[in-house]
Amino acid sequence: MSDRTSSEERSGREVTQPSTLYPLDPLGALVASHEDWLMSRILYYAKAQHYTAYTSTLAEAWRASICGLSDPLLTALKQPPETWELSPEMDFTQDAIAAFGILEAKRHRTRGITLPLFLSLMKYYRQAYLDLLHLGDFSPQQSEYYTHILHRFFDRIELGFCQEWSNHSENEQLGELQTKNRSLTNEKNKYLTIFESLNEAVFFLDEQHNLVNINEIAAQTFTSLKGSGKLYYAGQSLTLKLPWLSRYIKTFDPSRENSEIEKYLPTNQGRRWFEIKAKPMLDVSEKFTGFVVICADITHRKLAEATLKEARKQAEQANQAKSVFLATMSHELRTPLNGILGYTQLLKRCPNLTPKQQEELNIIQQCGYHLLNLINEVLDLSKIESDKLELYPRPVHLPSLLEGLVAIIQPKAEQKDIDLILDLDPRLPLGVYVDEKRLKQVLMNLLNNAIKFTKVGTVTLSVQHLPYSLKKHPNLSVLHSIRLTVKDTGIGISNADIEHIFLPFEQVGDTSAHYEGTGLGLTISQELVKLMGSQLNVRSEQGQGSEFWFDLDLSEVGVESISEISKPAEQIIGYTGRKQKILVIDDRLENRSLLISLLENLDFIVYSATNGQEGLEQAINNLPDLVITDIKMPVMDGFSLTRNLRNLPQFKSLPILAISASFSDLEKFERSDFGYNEFIGKPIDLPEFFAKLQKLLHISWLTARPPDSDPSGVEDSALCESASHSTWKLPPPEELLGIKQALEIGDFKTIFQEIDRLKKLDHLYLKFANRLWDLGQEFADQEIFDLIELAEQTD
Ligand code: ADP
Repeated sequence: MSDRTSSEERSGREVTQPSTLYPLDPLGALVASHEDWLMSRILYYAKAQHYTAYTSTLAEAWRASICGLSDPLLTALKQPPETWELSPEMDFTQDAIAAFGILEAKRHRTRGITLPLFLSLMKYYRQAYLDLLHLGDFSPQQSEYYTHILHRFFDRIELGFCQEWSNHSENEQLGELQTKNRSLTNEKNKYLTIFESLNEAVFFLDEQHNLVNINEIAAQTFTSLKGSGKLYYAGQSLTLKLPWLSRYIKTFDPSRENSEIEKYLPTNQGRRWFEIKAKPMLDVSEKFTGFVVICADITHRKLAEATLKEARKQAEQANQAKSVFLATMSHELRTPLNGILGYTQLLKRCPNLTPKQQEELNIIQQCGYHLLNLINEVLDLSKIESDKLELYPRPVHLPSLLEGLVAIIQPKAEQKDIDLILDLDPRLPLGVYVDEKRLKQVLMNLLNNAIKFTKVGTVTLSVQHLPYSLKKHPNLSVLHSIRLTVKDTGIGISNADIEHIFLPFEQVGDTSAHYEGTGLGLTISQELVKLMGSQLNVRSEQGQGSEFWFDLDLSEVGVESISEISKPAEQIIGYTGRKQKILVIDDRLENRSLLISLLENLDFIVYSATNGQEGLEQAINNLPDLVITDIKMPVMDGFSLTRNLRNLPQFKSLPILAISASFSDLEKFERSDFGYNEFIGKPIDLPEFFAKLQKLLHISWLTARPPDSDPSGVEDSALCESASHSTWKLPPPEELLGIKQALEIGDFKTIFQEIDRLKKLDHLYLKFANRLWDLGQEFADQEIFDLIELAEQTD
């Protein structure tokens, strides 16, 4: 402790201001930048000298007194008094510097603090500020000058409150204390009311974990006590033990960030769920004084959570059951439908049918396709609902895709005498990266609707390059923003109905008109467009027509990559290396023969079997390089076959490709390891199929440019040119006879051979032939048939 007066007396120096005057700013800057330092310094002295027993236990209260001292000091350093020295006539109660001391003196007096206690503590404040001088970069003379200034500052404060205190009579002091006591009691009562009326049970425990006080709800819920507060305020301890609380407190770790836990506790109303949290109580000297534990009853929330969990489980089970049901039904419905549609086509070719029979067969066929469409849409919807629908983008020739679509839909438009216009922006990129199948699905649905709901006029598919196009994709490819719009001059949709058209199974407008449809098309289209990162929009006016549009950001790809990736079937003619053996196992003749002819054409040695048992025997006898197997089969299914094969040492690493029409099989395959190497869905996507064969057999494909293609790129430029004109030369009907006949018996091998023949016949048939080839790859027999009919009619 340093006291200037005594040190001066000791050194025998006179009480005068040091001769050298230094600017006061450096001292001000030092004080202003060391608030925290000063706070810990005074705390250090207060703890060391045991002042904390009498002062506030809140650390922030100490900060407030440091600020309260520094503020007048900083003001005085900026605008110093006429003299820092003291004189006998001075009224320190009027001194600006002493104002803080007077205020503090009053506050401390009402808390019952005595003058000696306050004055001695003030000595330590003074010391803390003097200590701070050691941190400044001052010369010894400068430091001495600042020491003197600080002493005079604190002298004034002390003189100020001593003068104020001594002017205060004992009676006044007593009155002050009584007022303060009343306000403290009121404050206490306020917090007590809150404490007692809390819905949470609150427990206070001391350092030894003894219960010292609990609130009303805690007493009611966990004890038979009445008036626990009375005991506490009467100074009596609660002789109460709650085993769960003792256990909880023993394991309570205050350093854990989230100390809340949930417990199922015994109460006077039976067992209930509680969320428990605790906080240690510390005083300013960081001395631990006990705990407060708060328990909130969360039984209702827990019950609701359990109910919700159960409901979710049941909904998931129901959803799973629905998926299984849909998958099974679609598989079961498709099979007889293929028969119905196939035989209808065969019957329609009979030469001696009456017009009435032709008409009736047409109706059967239309109903069949309608049903097939419905099944596909329901399946798509269930995939969307269970987040199973994924996009498979790849390089696509955009103008060809759009032209192809228009060509397919053209016959329908012609039937109704509607003009179908394809309006392509010449700035569109030729090659883009997109899921061709899904983009076609959306546009096909919009075009079909437009034609369906239009009696006269036009339907336009326009694709515009948007002005804010040409962004750079993170992978450095160029991104084009394009807007695809389908506009019609049809019946339109009322404002009230427009809200509903994207909902499943909603058909709006004049429902008595019996338009064909399921009400699912727009729901699925909207979801697909969302998957593509966009939104399907509509604008419509009743009686005037409708407009549906969506914008896509598509990466541009070089046209060279398109012919290789999206049309490998055109180019693959075999593979490199030794001849490979493939075993095809499928109980359905049509699926088996399709795969056999496809693979034999590529020079594979193909064995086949109609079920797993037969497949196993064939595998043992012929040791194939690859097994392609269906999953649902009689006698032994694909799962058991694979298990049996994997149990034999020679087939441990045999590549197995599973193939199935069933949606749920795909899900199972994705979730678990059934021993297959790859899975592919039906109908088979040929590029995907070839990619998987290549991967499993480690082969390279032998490819050849199709005979019609011109290495100089003439074909590409021809495609681009025709993209904006849509002019095809159609072959005469006699050249299409071969395809028609092959179509009747579903012989796709011959269809492809015939298409090749057409391409060679005349290069102007190229676009028509390419369209047929694309449709052939999708086994879209009806669309092939429509296209041929179109050629026949145009002839
Ligand atoms: P649907 O299979 O019935 O066509 P969609 O989901 O594709 O199912 O369409 C839902 C409904 O929206 C249709 O039934 C029709 O009422 C209305 N709608 C769709 N497109 C058009 C359009 N271009 N013009 C008029 N109404 C339309």
